[in-house]
Amino acid sequence: MKKLIFILIAIAVIILAIFFAREREVSVTNYSSSGTDIIAFGDSLVTGIGSTQGGGFVKMLSDELRIPIVNLGIPGNTTTDALKRISQLDRYEPKVVMILLGGNDYLLRRPKEEILANMGKIIDEIHKRAAVALVLDLDDGFGSLAEEKKAAYISGLFKGIFGRKNLMSDGLHPNDAGYRLMADKIKPVLYKYKPPEIQSEEISISILPEQVEQGDPVLIIINGTTTPEYLKFNGKKLKTFIHDGKVTALTAVDLRSRTGSFSLELKFKDGRKIERKLSVGERYIAKLPLGIPEKLGGDTPEAEQELIKTLIQEGKLISAVPTANKKLWEGDFRLPLAGLVVVTDNYGYSRQTVGSTISHKGTDFRAKVGTPVYAMNSGVVRFTKYLRNYGHTVIIDHGLGLHTVYMHLSEINVPLNKEVKKGEFIAKSGDTGYVLGPHLHISVRIDDISIDPEKFMKILGE
Ligand SMILES: [Zn+2]
Repeated sequence: MKKLIFILIAIAVIILAIFFAREREVSVTNYSSSGTDIIAFGDSLVTGIGSTQGGGFVKMLSDELRIPIVNLGIPGNTTTDALKRISQLDRYEPKVVMILLGGNDYLLRRPKEEILANMGKIIDEIHKRAAVALVLDLDDGFGSLAEEKKAAYISGLFKGIFGRKNLMSDGLHPNDAGYRLMADKIKPVLYKYKPPEIQSEEISISILPEQVEQGDPVLIIINGTTTPEYLKFNGKKLKTFIHDGKVTALTAVDLRSRTGSFSLELKFKDGRKIERKLSVGERYIAKLPLGIPEKLGGDTPEAEQELIKTLIQEGKLISAVPTANKKLWEGDFRLPLAGLVVVTDNYGYSRQTVGSTISHKGTDFRAKVGTPVYAMNSGVVRFTKYLRNYGHTVIIDHGLGLHTVYMHLSEINVPLNKEVKKGEFIAKSGDTGYVLGPHLHISVRIDDISIDPEKFMKILGE
């Protein structure tokens, strides 16, 4: 008896191998349905024999599409056995019935005409119940029949799986990895036919600013209520938050970043993926000579070296400022000054030195010494220090990697670690540090990248 089973399996392997050798694409035709239930009808491949958790590809599809799937698999079933129990469908309101049968018929060497006739009757019975019949074909033996019966159809389901030790649990059944590949092939088709009430909405992405360039913040807005499993910008996972009722992420492109194409990848729990390319343009950078004020040693090589050395040290202190793992800001950001606000220096221009370039990574506002400075939004004061080049400095953490930085202040009027509200008085502007005259310098930092505050205010400002 054992010998006979072995021979039968060997025959099945040969027959299936021949089928895999040629693949045919058959167009899928829908069949209207008002039902609500998804049913998997078939043999041991439907029950999921060989999968560690049980349920095989049916369970995987159910988990990933977040829809219940009724498993009506019975190991060892032939098309004849299955046809006899077709009335089991009447316990449900079928919308889609996946049929996976035929393997046992092959093993028992049933004639091909008999298998096709049974399969045809099964499809007819499903159509009588106004459901979509989705024929899952291990090879491509049912292609013509599916076409004739206007059944939905997936061919070559065992292609690349059958006969591969790393994808099979025994001679006939896949393992988890094998079922995984089957589920991946079925998922997009099943998704198309699943009931409309659980059909997920259309999802699109909006990006602000519309033309991203070096030194810009990037706001990625997901239009739709479905929360993504992840959102990646150039391979890096971004944290999301709710902004104007939409799932949103904030990231940044460094002033010295390369230009060109950046990738955006969005994945949802139902398996859908959205991929977009984002083009980063070149920013015009004005070049200015280095002018070191007399109080910092004037324009001498020694003063230049000291300036660069201390800028690096101060940069490290600023980079080390912590951030909360949640959004602390509310609504839009306000300007740090009251009344008429005048920009005196833009973000991005560079001062050349012999060895390096010092970029102005912030916006300067006209402000005489002693002008009140207000928190641009709610957050926690995480830095209050005097720095040689930046003078008295305050940094507010708004959470999720977003900081606002206030520099060259004459007075700091908030204690470290204080929670502040948007618009709260925090300091007085001044002319401390590396300045040629009094002003308020603001930096906006996203994940340790200082971006253009004016661009930031355009997308997240009042
Ligand atoms: Zn400045």
